[in-house]
Amino acid sequence: MHDLSDKGRDTRVIHAGQHGDPATGAVTVPIYQASTFRFRNAAEGAARFAGEDPGHIYTRLGNPTTQALEEAVAMLEGGCGGLAAATGMAAVNTVYFTLLGQGDHIVATDAVYGPSRTFLETQYSRFGVESSFVDSSDPEKVRAAMKPNTKVVYLETPANPTLKLTDLRACAEIAHAGGAVAVVDNTFATPLLQRPFELGCDVVVHSMTKYINGHTDVVAGMVVAKDPAMYKRLQTVHKNLGGTMDPHQAWLVHRGLRTLSLRVDKAQANAQILAEYLENHPKVSWVRFPGLPSHPQYALAQTQMDGPGAVMSFGVKGGLEAGKTVIDNVQIMTLAVSLGGIETLIEHPASMTHAGVPAAEKAEAGITDDLVRLAVGCEDPEDLKSDLARVLEMI
Ligand SMILES: *Cc1c(COP(=O)(O)O)cnc(C)c1O
Repeated sequence: MHDLSDKGRDTRVIHAGQHGDPATGAVTVPIYQASTFRFRNAAEGAARFAGEDPGHIYTRLGNPTTQALEEAVAMLEGGCGGLAAATGMAAVNTVYFTLLGQGDHIVATDAVYGPSRTFLETQYSRFGVESSFVDSSDPEKVRAAMKPNTKVVYLETPANPTLKLTDLRACAEIAHAGGAVAVVDNTFATPLLQRPFELGCDVVVHSMTKYINGHTDVVAGMVVAKDPAMYKRLQTVHKNLGGTMDPHQAWLVHRGLRTLSLRVDKAQANAQILAEYLENHPKVSWVRFPGLPSHPQYALAQTQMDGPGAVMSFGVKGGLEAGKTVIDNVQIMTLAVSLGGIETLIEHPASMTHAGVPAAEKAEAGITDDLVRLAVGCEDPEDLKSDLARVLEMI
């Protein structure tokens, strides 16, 4: 195994978790499409179950292809271990299920990924878990929501689709002062742009469906823990909760991961061009993008992140109807939810991703009817710009 700890970002992304195949010399990790692994004898089987032999037992408990991906993402985050999950929500549920129990309380960012919120409200509530949702862009609101039984502070930054940022260092301190674990959904930023462990947080979750896979063809998730004790707790739940990853899925995601820095750099540069273009467009009433000095937390973006990412939201003059005209007439951009792929996606949260959120909560979370969300991909920026120019001309 090479030590990559002193290597640059692009080298690490390409080589993380890739040790070749000892059996054949294959340069990339092969797909070990097997559900179970043979023991040479009873003693070896016993040693594996006892954890004394690192060999494999059964794919739900661990698989070489999946472990290569876990090692790669954990290394990029600076954590001690990763747990690959069938979907981002499987990863989120491993975290919730591990850290929350009867009578516990969780404080979460109000604009977290919709199901991450509604699942707490509608399902974990059945088991006596209490949840509070606050605008975590103001750490004092997190502090005010803490209770003696708060076990988790669950943060998402940049938030979707408002692009509000949360000060992770400040919120991790508040969580720890109250005896709680600080968890971050780092899907939007990826470990290339934001490393929550360096800011004091304890657990990171990813929907690898988005940037890490990056090709809009796989759903997948990952949990990463900073320290071994937390990793062990999460692992015990994860392998029996059952939302573990299939080796073929792991191979696809790992293949995507190897171009993460190329894709993120390109998408982010495109996003900056489009954000500046939209901000100066007479038909656009506002743009929210952490790469614009007009973003209310531009200063935090500069210190906490290594770049603004490639998701933005903007409002079109003429509200909902004008927004629909934009969405219905784009040609290069695709009307679809999700983000983080190489193609640019556009959507209308009020009627789509956040349609299930009650009106009052929507307003509180800043999801207005005129808000259009753009997840910028890797196309030629001039083509994306002219696609927007043409549709904005129509309103
Ligand atoms: C998509 C998404 C999820 C859920 O991931 P799935 O892979 O769809 O289960 C969680 N958090 C964020 C921020 C997401 O964008």
